[in-house]
Amino acid sequence: MAGQKNFPLLMELGAPGRRAYLLPELDVPSQAVEELIPSEHLRPEPAPLPELSELEVVRHYTGLSRRNHGVDVGFYPLGSCTMKYNPKVNEDLAAYPGFASLHPYQPEATVQGALQLMSELERYLCEIAGLARATLAPAAGAHGELTGLMLIKAYHENRGEGHRDEIIIPDSAHGTNPASAAMCGYKVVEVASNQRGSVSVDALREVVGPKTAGLMLTNPNTLGLFEEDILTISEMVHSAGGLLYFDGANANAILGKCRPGDMGFDVVHFNLHKTFSTPHGGGGPGSGPIAVRDNLVPFLPMPVVEKRQRLADGAGAGENSLGFYLDYDRPLSIGKIKGFYGNFLVMVRAYAYILSMGPKGLRQASEDAVLAANYLMAKLKPAYDLPYDRICKHEFVLSAKRQKAYGATARDIAKRLLDYGIHAPTVYFPLIVEEALMIEPTETETKAVLDEFIEVMLAIAKEAEESPEQLQTAPHRTVVGRLDETLAARHPVVRWRGENVMEAKA
Ligand SMILES: *Cc1c(COP(=O)(O)O)cnc(C)c1O
Repeated sequence: MAGQKNFPLLMELGAPGRRAYLLPELDVPSQAVEELIPSEHLRPEPAPLPELSELEVVRHYTGLSRRNHGVDVGFYPLGSCTMKYNPKVNEDLAAYPGFASLHPYQPEATVQGALQLMSELERYLCEIAGLARATLAPAAGAHGELTGLMLIKAYHENRGEGHRDEIIIPDSAHGTNPASAAMCGYKVVEVASNQRGSVSVDALREVVGPKTAGLMLTNPNTLGLFEEDILTISEMVHSAGGLLYFDGANANAILGKCRPGDMGFDVVHFNLHKTFSTPHGGGGPGSGPIAVRDNLVPFLPMPVVEKRQRLADGAGAGENSLGFYLDYDRPLSIGKIKGFYGNFLVMVRAYAYILSMGPKGLRQASEDAVLAANYLMAKLKPAYDLPYDRICKHEFVLSAKRQKAYGATARDIAKRLLDYGIHAPTVYFPLIVEEALMIEPTETETKAVLDEFIEVMLAIAKEAEESPEQLQTAPHRTVVGRLDETLAARHPVVRWRGENVMEAKA
């Protein structure tokens, strides 16, 4: 495979007759198997699977795991992704059999603890958002965006204002924002940023009006900058009859410091898998709860967790005396947006994280995240262009314009960082910054790690100037070299086909 240094595939290992584990003899009569499975579905020959010893399998997968980069291995300043350390105690709690072995069809009486956890997590998230109620159902940030926009749509339709068909989105927005709006059937109206990297109030005045259903905003925005005009913006949108949607995927700068609800936002989504301690980046389950203002509560997806009023002593034994229940009796609800109740074990981690941090701990996390980002920004500013030079929040965006003039692009710098055992920052996003390098250190790194990163980035800036070819051909020290991204996108090889497809197509 292109760029890959002799790493055998599992299918190429082993030898006939090698065994890891012997299964008991099949005790189902083979005749019964043939009756159960139609013959056209039976293989004429056994599948050509590799035959390996247990140790070979263990070495293969352990070897693979060591070729991955993760936050447990090294620094991971991937902007907009909040790759912070996720305390292992939260993993332990999510693995408790009482949580991990629940079945979604269990009777309510047997899952009171789980429902209580969901109810309390909802309350904590509402407190952090400054809003009334929340749903924990959405499975990711983008799913939360879609759900939130569906609520906005239901709200307008219910008021006889279904003609509002425009969602305003700034040019610095995360790509999921316009995608979610379009998926919800809205027209996307872009609003420009000003010289300071904020939404231009003048440009907004031009586009807001009777067709406006809402405005989607990230604050701090994807440049890591706080929208200082947010109260003016929210007043403008509300007085035109629109609602405000807050993309809170990266809430890492605002926990306990300020609340989207107080800024005027009506819907907020959080990414539990970014801000609230669930490992991510490998494509595992996420969770994108949304919190809403009172006027949107009737439209929330079903079910919501409710608590019955306490009954008088001795009254209502049995089912009716149970505290928590799933409420499906919601006539204005947009319906179900996810199988069952959402990704429950992600909720367990977030609940454990919030409880173990407490209000003070969450506030401290945000302060430390902002401090770390500003420290890096100040130290890297002399060597890289900083298009929006003001105090940042949890992240900041450099431009590699100067390095590009020498022949080393943002992509080359990102690849070179891998040689130093550091994950690349987010590159070429946000789109309004040329050769963007978007850096988010998070609160969980020590100053020593930040200093090492600064040293490496300064060394790379020097290399760009003196020997850009070092960067153009990077990475040099990783297991996999620079890949052909176009070929990988056009001809992804995601399963073994008994031949080297990449080479065959190349
Ligand atoms: C990550 C992110 C999203 C999308 O979240 P997913 O869980 O990946 O769908 C949306 N907006 C911003 C600003 C993000 O950083």
